[in-house]
Amino acid sequence: MTEVKFIFVTGGVVSSLGKGLVSSSVGTLLQAYGFKVRIRKLDPYLNIDPGTMNPTQHGEVFVTEDGAETDLDLGHYERFTGIQATKDDNITTGKVYYELLRKERHGDYLGKTVQVIPHVTNLIKSFIFNDTEDLDFVICEIGGTVGDIESQPFLEAIRQISYTLGKQRVILMHLTLVPYLAVAQESKTKPTQHSVRELNFAGLQPDIILCRSEKEVADNQREKIAKLCNVSLSNVIPAPDVSHIYELPVLYSQRGLDTQILAHFNISKSKPDLIAWHQIVDAIKNPIQEVTISIVGKYTEFPDAYKSLLEALTHGAISNKVKVNINWINSREKDEKLIGKKLQNSHAILVPGGFGDDGIEGKILAINYARTSNIPFFGICLGMQLAVIEFARNVMKLEDAHSEEFYTCKHPIVKLASNQNTDLGGTMRLGAYKCNVSANSKMADVYENSTISERHRHRYIINLDYKDDLEKNGLICSSIAENGTCIEAVELIDHPWFIGVQFHPELQSKPFSPHPLFVSFVKAAVDKNKI
Ligand code: GLN
Repeated sequence: MTEVKFIFVTGGVVSSLGKGLVSSSVGTLLQAYGFKVRIRKLDPYLNIDPGTMNPTQHGEVFVTEDGAETDLDLGHYERFTGIQATKDDNITTGKVYYELLRKERHGDYLGKTVQVIPHVTNLIKSFIFNDTEDLDFVICEIGGTVGDIESQPFLEAIRQISYTLGKQRVILMHLTLVPYLAVAQESKTKPTQHSVRELNFAGLQPDIILCRSEKEVADNQREKIAKLCNVSLSNVIPAPDVSHIYELPVLYSQRGLDTQILAHFNISKSKPDLIAWHQIVDAIKNPIQEVTISIVGKYTEFPDAYKSLLEALTHGAISNKVKVNINWINSREKDEKLIGKKLQNSHAILVPGGFGDDGIEGKILAINYARTSNIPFFGICLGMQLAVIEFARNVMKLEDAHSEEFYTCKHPIVKLASNQNTDLGGTMRLGAYKCNVSANSKMADVYENSTISERHRHRYIINLDYKDDLEKNGLICSSIAENGTCIEAVELIDHPWFIGVQFHPELQSKPFSPHPLFVSFVKAAVDKNKI
């Protein structure tokens, strides 16, 4: 068996260049050659995980099957490669120091001065090496931008790994921005030169430079980058903007990224068949019709906060051969009448997960509109809890029905799940749980299964004391957690498509295996469009 090889991906000049998508694309391309891969993310920030961060800071929190709250890039890794990420696939400086200080208190470093080198770097290295024995390639994305103070221990750990394992087992890819200056009518290579110099200061020399650019980087500019950054011309690879992220594996393969990686490791293989990716892109670019789905949330200006959700809708759209246009509706809208007006042309309405009482009445209004106007409705986590509150208030006439998350009230339709502690980091009901699905329900039709497993991230649950009354009034609890403690799905009997789920189905949806709830929801929007 050959030894595992490491591909490190750093970013320069600015953040948000798409290192996660590059890592995901490299992962899927290597899989297409038949290799076994794993992708990991090293985040230099000091939080232990992104779970306590505001989505406006860091986008969506991606929850793994084993219940870790991780960076949204892990969602891309899963969607592109189909490989389930685990809690061992994302570390932060905070997590490293937490472990370091625990060990120090335990006496593991007894007698020694604990230092960044070697103690912090050793922990980073052991994270990178952990559980990699059966793999061909480990792709490690380093968050942030080279030159950030926080990145230094990570770059040093990589330097040590490169030194120890040598070029035959390590490749360093640097993703950089080559901005186009309209006044000069040319792309500028200077920022790339500077960021490669930053890497050089850390003792690292990139083997491949990927040039992100709005316009195609001209050959003479690539030559300049090659010469001044000490990289062979064939390894300076253009990465122009694309209209859809699923174009990237094919694009990078056409530009030779896969071939150059394999050439670096002296592996010769013929180009793989990427037909499945071509088909996905073809379906996205050639829809047979369009539908409009309204998303009513409070982070509508930050689509990254709903990353997996948007992807899952795209997967639902692909399988229905349609295009989904998103109508973003800010639930914090002051003028309530405006919400109804803005929803008028929707073929379906979705209220996603969320935290905090800000904007909830706007969401409840939108749910009321969907319920009473027979518009397909999908409520996810908080969206489901609010759908039950709306139903309790307006159908069961429990006027002050609410969630204990927000108010103490006479009818706490949503209440704190038992065994929740008051620390906010990593303490929710997290990760995959099995749920039973009732026969003769829409959920059963959608899943074609009586037991399912879905990922969760919540602290509150529907109050089981109200279950019978909800059902008597027409809101069926069509899925219950395997241990009976949590209502996992509700649905309306007299409605074309009205489902709320306590879990996050979007986290498991993939382009090649779209989640059945999203396929069915988009289909309901298509049906609505026909009426
Ligand atoms: N805030 C709600 C809870 O904690 C819903 C969480 C969510 O939507 N992810 O239960």
